[in-house]
Amino acid sequence: MAEAQSASAAIQAEQDSRKYVFTDWSVQSRVKPVVIASARGVWLYDIHGKAYIDFASQLVNVNAGHQHPRIIKAIKDQAEKLGYITPYLNTMPRTELARTIAEITPGDLTKCLFTSGGAEANENAIRIARLYTGRPKIITRYRSFHGATNGALSLSGDSRRWSAEPGMPGVVHALDAFCYRCSFNQKPQECNLECLSHLEELVWNEGPDQVAGIMVEPVVGANGIIVPPPGYMPGLRALCDKYGIMLIADEVMTGFGRTGEWFACQNWNVVPDIMTFAKGVNSGYVPLGGVIVRQPIADYFEDHTFFGGLTYAGHPLACAAALATIQVYKDEKMVENSRQMGRVLLRELEAMKERHPSVGDVRGIGLFCGVELVKDKETREMLVRWNGPTQGVGAEVREKALQSGLYMFGRWNILFVAPPLCINQDELKQGLAILDEALELADAAAARPT
Ligand code: PLP
Repeated sequence: MAEAQSASAAIQAEQDSRKYVFTDWSVQSRVKPVVIASARGVWLYDIHGKAYIDFASQLVNVNAGHQHPRIIKAIKDQAEKLGYITPYLNTMPRTELARTIAEITPGDLTKCLFTSGGAEANENAIRIARLYTGRPKIITRYRSFHGATNGALSLSGDSRRWSAEPGMPGVVHALDAFCYRCSFNQKPQECNLECLSHLEELVWNEGPDQVAGIMVEPVVGANGIIVPPPGYMPGLRALCDKYGIMLIADEVMTGFGRTGEWFACQNWNVVPDIMTFAKGVNSGYVPLGGVIVRQPIADYFEDHTFFGGLTYAGHPLACAAALATIQVYKDEKMVENSRQMGRVLLRELEAMKERHPSVGDVRGIGLFCGVELVKDKETREMLVRWNGPTQGVGAEVREKALQSGLYMFGRWNILFVAPPLCINQDELKQGLAILDEALELADAAAARPT
């Protein structure tokens, strides 16, 4: 645990962070900075010495938990050997990591292009799809986030995209495979996957020989933890095969054990043509992302130029951290723990749904769950409007949880539960008890007349 700073030094640090640091996606005057001094496992410690359970793995990236000694050692050792090398030369951690990722990803996903993060991975993924197919268009979905660079934000579906528009041409958005709020008025298990028929209709409206790729998060992350119905991903694979469209899986958030499999696509035995990753690849200790492609795409670039490159792509420190992280996932059985603790988590959340009038739906897979807040369970009216102007009571619930020592991520009416994959049952239950109490705020808001 961290040494607490003196009260005056802590207050100064908070004021400086307000004054000098831009906070992402925020109206700056509303930011109340919490300055974290250190962390360990699933625990964070602020500069006052207060402890918080991390139910967000920060940005759903610190999958191995904070300050894992083996990852830190790997970074230190690599820094002493070779701190940087251009992507035109190579180095063992980069090569070994590419081979390791080819081994743990499904099917013939073979060749890795490294980037510094997820947005760049997605930018490169669509460039690869366009170069390989010779087609211009990309289909993504509204409930999606693919990153904050101009192209990646154009690919994204939620309201963050509006700030970048008109954005990148050639992107078309589809409706989602969101059973709790089905856009096609169908009931789960009784439907004919109208969400897939809609995608096929879209392909025909855009021109089957114009569409290079369909990019999806196999389990939607920041847009509400949406697990597709069982036939959706296999159906999407078949649809892409039918029209020669590249299936691009954005596994930036879902990859590396988050859903209880190494990669979320494996929950449905689907092999995408192109897969992007970042975050969990090295648990966020050093920035890293990448794209892995299937053999035919790799073969194509044997005699075609690949247009793309980044100074920090496949940084040796990041690759060394990734190799250590993947070994930690294996040795400490974190993917299995994600699956097992995920079942406990979903069971506990189901019980919470029964207790709280404001909890309309709980869902998820592995340690990747969401709690959807509603005004009314029958009508499913959202407690805070998705894409609306304020975060409303959703933010108040998270603030209350924070005061009680639980750090959570959420957006509008959805709260996310995605702790590090090393969490144990006691820690999970401690965090859930805090959430349970904080949800009373949402119940009170739901009960208020509109
Ligand atoms: N793709 C998904 C699914 C994400 O959740 C994110 C970030 O949250 C990104 C891409 C962008 O990754 P990065 O922030 O590393 O650019």
